[in-house]
Amino acid sequence: MNYVMNKFPNLSPMPFVDNAEGIYVFTDDGKKILDATAGWCSQMVLGYKNQEVIDAMWDQMGRFCHIDHNIWRHREMEELAELILSKAPKGLNKVYFAGNSGSESVEAALKISYQVHYDQGNKEKSWIISRNQSYHGSTLQSIGASDRDILNFYQPLLPQRMAQISQHHPLYMMKPEESLDQYAKRSAEELENKILELGEDNVAAFLGETIMGQLQGDVPPATNYWKYIRGICDRYNVHLILDEVYCGLGRSGKVYCCEWDDIVPDFVCFGKTLGAGYVPLSVVVTKSEMESVIAMGQGRIQHGHTHQGHSLGVAASLAVQKIVQTEDQLNYINETGAYIKKELYKNLGDHPFFVDIRGRGLMVSLEYDCSDNPKFGENVFTKVRNDFNILISSKWHRISLSPPYIINREEVDAVIAATVDVFKKTAENFEIAKN
Ligand code: PMP
Repeated sequence: MNYVMNKFPNLSPMPFVDNAEGIYVFTDDGKKILDATAGWCSQMVLGYKNQEVIDAMWDQMGRFCHIDHNIWRHREMEELAELILSKAPKGLNKVYFAGNSGSESVEAALKISYQVHYDQGNKEKSWIISRNQSYHGSTLQSIGASDRDILNFYQPLLPQRMAQISQHHPLYMMKPEESLDQYAKRSAEELENKILELGEDNVAAFLGETIMGQLQGDVPPATNYWKYIRGICDRYNVHLILDEVYCGLGRSGKVYCCEWDDIVPDFVCFGKTLGAGYVPLSVVVTKSEMESVIAMGQGRIQHGHTHQGHSLGVAASLAVQKIVQTEDQLNYINETGAYIKKELYKNLGDHPFFVDIRGRGLMVSLEYDCSDNPKFGENVFTKVRNDFNILISSKWHRISLSPPYIINREEVDAVIAATVDVFKKTAENFEIAKN
């Protein structure tokens, strides 16, 4: 059997999965793998077989799998929207069911942002500004807003009127003579300069991940960075779009990652963890003012998919979010993340390859530097998997741990012990970085 087109055609075939339960995957080569990546893309936050979610799905399937909400309404969709908004920063009061993937929610936010400017008579406000080293998805618009070398060859296909400013990364970008706040201000001022360069009448939105995600390794912004950005966006009537596809819905220890930064964006994109891998679903959270502008303008949001707001996805997501959005669950995420950081630092903080450990909630990254970072990361990944039957994300310059929220302390200890052991042993075959 080899009819499936492989994303990585040069790699040997992976084992088949026979079963998956809790945070474990059982493969046909007889292995039981502890999946500390939450499904590789950090989405399986409740593990693989949560009975409450499955029951909600069965119940929904017994009634209908999907209805088109252009012509009917789905009660649970209202309930889910209410739940998503219950922890939202003040002023965010509408949920648009954008599609199934995170990319579609980014795409929808960009399109709604432009449509609002257009319907207000500001048709030239169409430039999108994003940041280097970001990732916003795999549709052409979201690739256009991203910055990944391997995707650069798509340049001829990408939409126009997209600009970038520097990444926001205190460790790399802060000058020695600067305070953190001075850096936050300077970093935000880059946005202002870019808006002025493009012309304030031409810029629709600024798009950024609230915390730069796994590409760079979970980089929390400097305190006040987003406040400065918010001020600039207000000054020039530029929408602030936060991509919380990865960091949202509990991953950061809060429902909205931007709660940490105490700001109110204009749009927040949620995806992967919304349905937690049971059924894909994505949404854009925004303000009723946007809906009002469109009501007075074209009278319909010009972004739609056949399966947007998929009913089974709504049922699964509602069940998932009822579990995730509780005080106990969020406290556990924060405590576990803090414990992982502490233990990794205790064991590897004085290692010559150690650079930094950081993150929020259950998104923790350890950055290293040695003579060959990509090879080192790859070797650590392979050895942890082969010798310990544990899956972690280790690549480029960082090891990122974003396990399911349900991982218990014993499992966390097993992941840390394997990571530390393999890190130290692998390091014996590499040298300290030269620069
Ligand atoms: N934005 C961010 C920050 C992401 O991490 C991802 C997925 N890795 C996306 C957008 C795109 O989501 P999807 O893969 O579901 O299209």
